[in-house]
Amino acid sequence: MNFLEKRIQKDGIVKEGNVLKVDTFLNHQMDIGLFRQMGEEWKRRFEGTYINKILTIEASGIGIACIASEYFDVPVVFAKKSKSINIDGSMYMAEVESFTHKCKNQVIVSKKFLGPDDHVLIIDDFLANGCALQGMISIVSQAGATLAGIGIAIEKGFQPGGRTIRNLGYHLESLAIVDSMDAAAGTVTFRTQAENTTGEAGAAAYTGHVRG
Ligand code: 5GP
Repeated sequence: MNFLEKRIQKDGIVKEGNVLKVDTFLNHQMDIGLFRQMGEEWKRRFEGTYINKILTIEASGIGIACIASEYFDVPVVFAKKSKSINIDGSMYMAEVESFTHKCKNQVIVSKKFLGPDDHVLIIDDFLANGCALQGMISIVSQAGATLAGIGIAIEKGFQPGGRTIRNLGYHLESLAIVDSMDAAAGTVTFRTQAENTTGEAGAAAYTGHVRG
C-alpha cells in the first residue's frame, strides 16, 4: 500500500451510500505533510509533462492544489461555484452536479486566468461519477488550453468517472483507487497500482478494515 492508501485505511470511515469520509486528514481538517507527499508523488508521475497552471474546484480541491503547486512551481486557479444566472462574457462556465450534496452548481473561471497558452494540470480530492472533472475539462476546452493531465487523490473505481476519463485518452493519475467498500464490515479494497512512491512493485489488491 502507498502512503495515501495506508492513511485511508487508518483514518477513513465508510458511510452508507458509497461515501468515504476522510475529513480528519483530507477535506475538513487537512494534513499538510500528507498533502506534500501527494504533491511530490504527482510531480513524479507527471515528470516530463509541460505544465504551467493548476486548475481545481472549490472548496476541497484548493488546499491540495496549493500544496501541489509548490512542486510544480505554477499558479493555481480554482473554479468558483456561482449562484448567479447572469454570467457575462468574461467567464467560462460549466454545470456540475455534486455527488455529495445532490445539487447542481454553475462553476465559473475568469477568462483572465486561462487561455490557449496554458497547459493545465487538474487536481481534485475525489473522482466518483466524474461530474466535477467533466466541468473542469469543459472549462479547459472553452479556454482553448491544453489538458496536460489530471491528478486525483482518491478515485472511487466502482463509479464510472475514472473509466470514462481514461477512455477519453486523458492522463489520469489517482493516488488511491478504491475498488469497493463495505459500510457494514468497514472495509475498503484498493486497486493494485503498478508502483508506489518508494518504487516498490504493487502488491495484490488489498482489503483492509477502516473505522465504520
Ligand atoms: P464526482 O463529480 O466525480 O461524482 O464527485 C466528485 C466530488 O464529489 C468530489 O470533489 C468530492 O467533493 C465529492 N465526493 C464524491 N465522492 C465522495 C466520497 O466518497 N467522499 C467524499 N468525502 N466526497 C466525495
